[in-house]
Amino acid sequence: MTPKTRNTERPARQAQPHAAYLREALALAREAQQAGSSPVGAVLVDAQGTVIFRGRNRVGEPQTSRHVGGASVSHAEMDVFFQAGKLKNPQSLTLYTSLEPCLMCGGASALLQIGRIVWATADAWGGSGRLIAWDGHPAMQTTEVVACPDSELEREGAALFAPEAKKAFPDEGWALWRERYPNETADVE
Ligand SMILES: [Zn+2]
Repeated sequence: MTPKTRNTERPARQAQPHAAYLREALALAREAQQAGSSPVGAVLVDAQGTVIFRGRNRVGEPQTSRHVGGASVSHAEMDVFFQAGKLKNPQSLTLYTSLEPCLMCGGASALLQIGRIVWATADAWGGSGRLIAWDGHPAMQTTEVVACPDSELEREGAALFAPEAKKAFPDEGWALWRERYPNETADVE
């Protein structure tokens, strides 16, 4: 989807380039994959540009006292939100993810009034970008969306997640992935 900007006044948010944070989210995605979970990572960044929480998918790992795991809802963004507890000044925060959030995680981000959400790679099947009313709804009008701002990292994320997309999504979903990322999906077994 097209990145949005708005005219309304907003609290200050870090204005540094997105790439470094997306790289960190991608590194967490690889860590998740190595641990037996789905390759998705996320970092929450404050207005000064400091990473305050790091999360990754933990669906394939057991629950621990520190992390929600072993459940269908153990997505990277939820890992971040469970660690963060009650957010202070969420409008000042930016959530970076390696992959466009699903409906659950995008919905949580909108409901929590995260100021901005940035993802490396689009999820043509399960992504929430086109499914959520990010603005125009009184309860969810405060999240700015920046989709795929760095084409190199977008392709990197697509190649990383493509095997999971083929495994986890129905044929119809995989077809959408192949259409969106023909090069990155071409050699997936
Ligand atoms: Zn999710």
